[in-house]
Amino acid sequence: ENKKQKFVYDFTEGNKDLKDLLGGKGANLAEMTNLGLPVPPGFTITTEACKVYLDSGTEPAELREEVSAHLDALEQKMGKKLGQADDPLLVSVRSGAKFSMPGMMDTVLNIGLSDASVKGLAKQAGDERFAWDSYRRLIQMFGKTVLGVDGELFEDALDAAKEAKKVTVDTDLGPAELQKLVKEFKKIVKREAGRDFPQDAREQMDLAITAVFDSWNGDRAKLYRRQERIPGDLGTAVNVCSMVFGNLGPDSGTGVAFTRDPASGHQGVYGDYLQNAQGEDVVAGIRNTVPLADLENIDKKSYDQLMQIMETLETHYKDLCDIEFTIERGQLWMLQTRVGKRTAAAAFRIATQLVDQGLIDEAEALQRVNGAQLAQLMFPRFDEDTKVEKIARGIAASPGAAVGKAVFDSYTAIKWSRSGEKVILIRRETNPDDLDGMIAAEGILTSRGGKTSHAAVVARGMGKTCVCGAEELEVDTKRRRMTAPGGVVIEEGDVVSIDGSSGKVYVGEVPVVPSPVVEYFEGRMHAGAEEAGELVAAVHRIMSFADGKRRLRVRANADNAEDALRARRFGAQGIGLCRTEHMFLGERREMVEKLILADTDDEREEALKELLPLQKKDFIELFEAMDGLPVTVRLLDPPLHEFLPDITELSVRVALAESRKDANENDLRLLQAVHKLHEQNPMLGLRGVRLGLVIPGLFAMQVRAIAEAAAERKEAKGDPRAEIMIPLVGTVQELEIVKDEADAVIAEVEAATGTNLKLTIGTMIELPRAALTAGQIAEAAQFFSFGTNDLTQTVWGFSRDDVEASFFTAYLEKGIFGVSPFETIDKDGVGSLVKHAVKQGRATRPDLKLGVCGEHGGDPESVHFFHEVGLDYVSCSPFRIPVARLEAGRAAV
Ligand code: PEP
Ligand code: MG
Repeated sequence: ENKKQKFVYDFTEGNKDLKDLLGGKGANLAEMTNLGLPVPPGFTITTEACKVYLDSGTEPAELREEVSAHLDALEQKMGKKLGQADDPLLVSVRSGAKFSMPGMMDTVLNIGLSDASVKGLAKQAGDERFAWDSYRRLIQMFGKTVLGVDGELFEDALDAAKEAKKVTVDTDLGPAELQKLVKEFKKIVKREAGRDFPQDAREQMDLAITAVFDSWNGDRAKLYRRQERIPGDLGTAVNVCSMVFGNLGPDSGTGVAFTRDPASGHQGVYGDYLQNAQGEDVVAGIRNTVPLADLENIDKKSYDQLMQIMETLETHYKDLCDIEFTIERGQLWMLQTRVGKRTAAAAFRIATQLVDQGLIDEAEALQRVNGAQLAQLMFPRFDEDTKVEKIARGIAASPGAAVGKAVFDSYTAIKWSRSGEKVILIRRETNPDDLDGMIAAEGILTSRGGKTSHAAVVARGMGKTCVCGAEELEVDTKRRRMTAPGGVVIEEGDVVSIDGSSGKVYVGEVPVVPSPVVEYFEGRMHAGAEEAGELVAAVHRIMSFADGKRRLRVRANADNAEDALRARRFGAQGIGLCRTEHMFLGERREMVEKLILADTDDEREEALKELLPLQKKDFIELFEAMDGLPVTVRLLDPPLHEFLPDITELSVRVALAESRKDANENDLRLLQAVHKLHEQNPMLGLRGVRLGLVIPGLFAMQVRAIAEAAAERKEAKGDPRAEIMIPLVGTVQELEIVKDEADAVIAEVEAATGTNLKLTIGTMIELPRAALTAGQIAEAAQFFSFGTNDLTQTVWGFSRDDVEASFFTAYLEKGIFGVSPFETIDKDGVGSLVKHAVKQGRATRPDLKLGVCGEHGGDPESVHFFHEVGLDYVSCSPFRIPVARLEAGRAAV
């Protein structure tokens, strides 16, 4: 039997685990309903219904009937009918996707009001003013979000009404003014949308539902999804909920609450409350809220009940929850809850606090944090002792230290940031239209709104620095300037610094200092020390959970002793990539030049002989720094022209010299060599193993330097564990030739020094052919290290040095990929080659050691992939090692 799909769920039917189907909001409303908490009755239309609509362009036939049935039930429960003239049932229609998503249609309140029912509501509530205010809000929200009317038009009309009555807040408008405003709003709708505001309640509801579905594919919603890597085909649910009113007088109100401080993780009373207001007023920051703690004096009964509910929720969800609530004439109602967003620091603290409270275990604690948050905690901060002048202090809404030029609109933010400027977006308050500007900015500063204002919530979600509600600042967006106390004027383009951890705002550039978390990783601060604070203690514990769970080892990409030592302090278990070309820079360049220019064997040998002791010294230092740990040294990889002067510059120099008749012999030879080595596609040219095959003695010299350095470290009672790695191999034959040569050199050094060096020889897998023939290559390689930079370049045919600046923006905008494949491993393409090579390689050589040393080795999502395909280690730059350790731990639980 074909079970009919169910498109509508009553709040009593769902639960918190049905987020895919009911969206986050709907699932949690259902969960609260079933916990017996006071939730106004309602129902949820599923994401499946939305998907059908988005795919086919029409709503599923059964949807209308199901909605009717649920509406009937709701009307029965409430004892009144939707839009009923003498006593209307009113509902809200709210979007609610699986992930909360700014940019989607949010809410239309008061659906069911009309010219007729507004009078019934006035009589029932005994409040004319309230009824007309509710009606004008409906037309305003409906006009803007459902009918697409420019919201400013309503705002302007509202402002004009206030001005006419010489009042500043909308609560001072009386019923007569509001009634006039309703007329005005209806005119705006008619003019702008080309239709009358619908008087039929059911039509209002149905149009609002369709508008929610459509908003899934709005531009801002799409942009946000790409940013946050949310798949585009999930669809949104729609919640229809009976209205309760926070704007029925002083014994009513609305607020938001957190079960803990989302900035620090501390337990306590956190949130904002606004008396005599509807929900949207709090988030929009239209009037100033009072701290939640003040509710105790305003309405003790509701306050106590709220505290109790918050405890219930936290114990039930075992996590920080945020809550939206409304009090209607002394009766508390829960409108929403969800596991709350939090700052990176709070995430670490809360995870360890919950472990201490016995609510979650170590594995769960690892799921509560992530590498991106840890990376954020490693950012530098402002120097507290700065002499730069503080001009204001706002609310510390999202941490970080941001410096940039002041801009006052999103358009300029985007334009300037595209041309490489760092900008701080300054607004009185932000709204969803500012999303692109917020993405473009280094940080966001607002003069209005609290911790739950749009700016604060969105910035926290993006991990962007934000100071909000800096009320001493007068922001004038029209004139593109802001005035601080004492008459300091900041014009567009002036540099400002904002501290999202303290809320301080400065004019000019404030110097930055390292984060305490980095001080801790560096070993300059002990986790238990007093100055280290709770954050460092929490990071320390989470890192030990991760290290305890992870299977992947973590190595560093490092080419000198200094980086190697830092990497070791950060927890590196070896070096996965030492790029020896970095040892050929600076004054040594001349020697490399000599090697390249050598006409005869003698000249070449001479040049190599000069390089040998220098290379050897580098390796001795490196092996000493990494004593007892593996060090993978890669033989020379880049095209040789990289060591020579730029062809154009040199040509000009030679031409000029020739015209003066004093051309220098060496320059002429250089120019000749540059011409000879010039390639159209150097990345596909003479580089990697190919250099070893065509320049006699080059690789042998490097192998000798490694072997002699290892022998010397042994002599000094050290424990060198060198691994020699051959780059850009495409076929096993290449590797065999180089390997034979290397083996011979090693044997020679071992004989001369009387030691067994236990050097291993392996290869990078960074060409598609190498991955495809990994089974053969493994016959000559003791280890593979995936060079996913070159592998991505060659699999996609994308020049890694060019494409990110040229067409990747277009690709990202078109949604071809959500993130650059050079940043996060392309699992389907590059990743499947990696998988293939792992399988074939291990089939040939079961004890083959496998690692990755491309940039992906430090990317959180990629680390999970490498864990899954069974690599032994990832290798990344020293600063990303803590992130890789954490993500390797998270991947293993
Ligand atoms: C790689 O290609 O992934 C790699 C690590 O080598 P390089 O970045 O030096 O080419
Ligand atoms: Mg490479």
